[in-house]
Amino acid sequence: MSNKFKKAIEYFSKLQGIGPRQASRIVFALLNWPASEIKAFARAIDELESGITFCEECFNLSEQTRCQICMSAQREREKICVVEKIVDLQTIEKTGLYRGLYHVLGGAINPVEGVLPANLRINELVNRVKTLQVNGNGLVPEVILATNPNTYGETTALYLTEVLTPLSIKITRLARGLSSGSFLEYTDATTLQNAFKNRR
Ligand SMILES: [Zn+2]
Repeated sequence: MSNKFKKAIEYFSKLQGIGPRQASRIVFALLNWPASEIKAFARAIDELESGITFCEECFNLSEQTRCQICMSAQREREKICVVEKIVDLQTIEKTGLYRGLYHVLGGAINPVEGVLPANLRINELVNRVKTLQVNGNGLVPEVILATNPNTYGETTALYLTEVLTPLSIKITRLARGLSSGSFLEYTDATTLQNAFKNRR
């Protein structure tokens, strides 16, 4: 196998959920593309690094300092839905049910893998809530904990509840009914909508 081929497989294997066999299948498929398409694909990847940054408010993907959700006048600004990853935010957005803002933590507490509270954007969340309390026109902020319904997500939700409780805000967690041990990103829209409606 050529080194070029091996290198490409190595990169695709780094993606979550893609094993070496799938990676080599992807590389084989790419080799069937016209050269111009492969070049365009390479350019798109190259541009990812230069064109996209993170929203300084919620850490969603953004091409400006604040993302479209944070800039929108249509969103309920007193609600902050806390998710582990950007993909979770996108999953919730697709349901079209939620009209508040988000906060992307950057993962879940997982000491085995070296992810401690200090590695997540928890201070940033606390600061946002405090700012809301000052500038929120008297509305009580609501933080909706939408971390994954698995061990790490639950641990993170508990930790956040402890950190946020002294601030006297409304703290809710997505309802049970999300199958435990799973991930938001694989949850279907109807289940997710119900989990939002029945949050407490
Ligand atoms: Zn944002």
